Amino acid sequence: MKRLIPFVVFLIVIMFFSCAEKTNEEADIIYLNARVYTMSWEDPDLDGNPSETAPIKQGKYIPDAEAIAIKGNRIMAVGSTKELKKLQGSQTKMIDLEGYVILPGLIESHGHLNEIGEKAEAIKLQGLSADEIIELMIEKSKSVPKGEWIIASGWDEAEFANSYPDMKRLSSQTPEHPIVLIGLRGFGVMGNALAFEKAGITKSSVPEKGGKILLDKLGNLKYVLINGAKRLLFDKIPAKSLAQQTRIMKYGFDQLLSLGFTATHHLGVEKAHMEVYEDLEANGKLPMRVHAFVAARKYNMELVNTWLARGPTQNIEDFLQVTGFKGYYDGSLGSRGAKFLEPYSDKKDYTGVSGLAYGFDKDLMIKALDKGFRLAIHAIGDQANRDVLDLYEGYFKDHPDSQQLRHRIEHVQVVHPDDFKRFAPLNITASMEPAHAVEDMPWAIDRIGEERAKGAYAWRTLRQNQAKVIFNSDFTGSDPSFFYGIYCAITKKKSPNDKAYYPEQAFTKEETIRAYTTWPAYAAKQEQVSGTIEVGKWADLTIIDTDVLNASPEEILKGKVLQTMIAGKVMFKAEQ
Ligand SMILES: [Zn+2]
Repeated sequence: MKRLIPFVVFLIVIMFFSCAEKTNEEADIIYLNARVYTMSWEDPDLDGNPSETAPIKQGKYIPDAEAIAIKGNRIMAVGSTKELKKLQGSQTKMIDLEGYVILPGLIESHGHLNEIGEKAEAIKLQGLSADEIIELMIEKSKSVPKGEWIIASGWDEAEFANSYPDMKRLSSQTPEHPIVLIGLRGFGVMGNALAFEKAGITKSSVPEKGGKILLDKLGNLKYVLINGAKRLLFDKIPAKSLAQQTRIMKYGFDQLLSLGFTATHHLGVEKAHMEVYEDLEANGKLPMRVHAFVAARKYNMELVNTWLARGPTQNIEDFLQVTGFKGYYDGSLGSRGAKFLEPYSDKKDYTGVSGLAYGFDKDLMIKALDKGFRLAIHAIGDQANRDVLDLYEGYFKDHPDSQQLRHRIEHVQVVHPDDFKRFAPLNITASMEPAHAVEDMPWAIDRIGEERAKGAYAWRTLRQNQAKVIFNSDFTGSDPSFFYGIYCAITKKKSPNDKAYYPEQAFTKEETIRAYTTWPAYAAKQEQVSGTIEVGKWADLTIIDTDVLNASPEEILKGKVLQTMIAGKVMFKAEQ
């Protein structure tokens, strides 16, 4: 018997290991019969010609795999359908993709997630009659949780000056929701009785100088406040609750997931947004990867100071990565706020506004750099881009290690010819919007003239100067669709009948796909775990119906996302 014991132990050990090995070999999910572009071959050269390692035959891209096996949150195997079928176990989910395309998970590298929901929930009153306003608000109140403030805007103070909407009727129909109606021109605000009650406004309240609380003939409240009296109500509107803010952010997540994005870089995160991200992250409910760049704005100092004290996120596996700060160096081109070396072509002697005059706090940027945060600084004009490059260069002289963080400039819209070559040695990522280039160009040429326009949205010139370029939409500034982004980037047009602006700056399809996958993964220092489809990397995948490496621009524009997988979980599935 004694002799048997070692043998039994030996058997148990053998059984344990063989079981362990067996479960290890079984995939959770296997995608079969797909056209997989792993993007794991080398980058195209600086003119966009594919590398010799690219899977190309007779001028066409050939998928470099047809199946992907997933285990947990990682890619377990990549290969042929036949090979990967061997990883099927009793629990494995087999998904036949019937020739659809799998790309590495798309990354939206500059956007404003909150704005999607804010726009969706905004209640607009423009063009409505007084009665229509009342009816609309009564209707809206039925779908909003009791007690929640409802804010609408856009009624025209001039139009209603003699006959305001009947706020008493509104009040009687909406006893459980404080309602605030903001005027179009900034002079007036109306509220229902509950809003006035919550704000403590009575007919005898004293407004700011010049303000007026309107009363009817009997001396009762009309629930209309004019000029400085607005503050009596405005200042009492409570901040959104976490539940409200979460609901708003959810619109953004839903839209991005439906567009195939597995990660979003939120450029300019405020306290209310961060509370949602942190709450979802703490509960394991963040639906996609979020790279939060804290807004370096005066009104956001509480959040700024919190993160300066904490320092950047250390664990690359966290869905919420607070690794950056967003700085705002100059204004926009459309409003002539962007800062140029020479005056605007359509505004004499005016070069725009930047730096301190624009609220840019250099000391704060330096503090963030000292703490090891990645900076992403908004710079549009050629002077602004030069100044920001100077700022980075100056800092790196004393802190050469900081370059390894891969700092960024956002938009990089107009660059002086002398400055293109400065991005690469400073390791600065140029974060750009293909859609802006084609949407802005008609009036951008008026602003800056033909000569400077050659250095505008010049992603090819940047690449030729070895700069890293990443693409995004600055949503909701432009449509975040990846297909629209590719279309704009490869055609330099926004639609088939549009004129192509500076087509010599276009990217190839492969470069554009990389600017949405491998390159932003690199920009975020996550190239070890994302950006390509390779064994051991995160199972972040985007499944689409169009072979974007071979399709025509018009076909690409019609492309659709079928599935979005993040960390091995299907987070979006299109209805077929
Ligand atoms: Zn932006």
